[in-house]
Amino acid sequence: TISMVAIHASGVMAAGTSTNGAAHKVPGRVGDGPIVGSGSYVDGDVGGCGATGDGDVMMRFLPCYQAVENMRRGMTPQEAAEDVVRRMVRKYPKIESGVVVVNKKGEHGAAASGWTFTYAVRGGDMGATEVITVPPVEVGG
Ligand code: ASP
Repeated sequence: TISMVAIHASGVMAAGTSTNGAAHKVPGRVGDGPIVGSGSYVDGDVGGCGATGDGDVMMRFLPCYQAVENMRRGMTPQEAAEDVVRRMVRKYPKIESGVVVVNKKGEHGAAASGWTFTYAVRGGDMGATEVITVPPVEVGG
């Protein structure tokens, strides 16, 4: 799965997700990628989110919609990401998930469960892409 959140120099934001769903491929499966609010979500007034992981479970939580709403209510991107992952882990302790969250200022954070998640950041004055490794949240933490 590739999820992206982008901020244009004008401030316009976009988010999207592409996945082949290879690990879950059954005929007719749609998956979470194209479900707005699950695979990705953006509101240019607030920020955006992209997600990967066990889509059949994740789509029940609309984690990206939740993350953006978390920021709207005052959470940092990191807090917003951790909150949505913990919401899923509380119900599904073994879920593999990863969410990356970016606010409209370009501040970002991420959280994962069940696996180590990586994401890449580039923009502003950065001369190179930075790859960030996110360890899984502790179950019960
Ligand atoms: N979320 C994707 C799906 O369930 C898979 C993935 O993120 O790797 O189709």
